[in-house]
Amino acid sequence: MTDFKKHPPYMELCLCRRCADVYFNDPAYWVERSNPIQTVRELCDVCSQYRGFDYSIWKKPSNVRLPKSHR
Ligand SMILES: [Zn+2]
Repeated sequence: MTDFKKHPPYMELCLCRRCADVYFNDPAYWVERSNPIQTVRELCDVCSQYRGFDYSIWKKPSNVRLPKSHR
């Protein structure tokens, strides 16, 4: 189920709560704090407006392949 986590993260970003939620809510991605004990918030890499923490982001493999419809 979490085999994809054996691979290095797809990307590492500093995300504010707002931008982290976008990835958390996207079923195509798996997001985890890079450093759970990090206490210093840094400027978000995505919006550059808010501060947040470093996150590691994996792109989930697309296991489900819809068969082509036969006509
Ligand atoms: Zn942000």
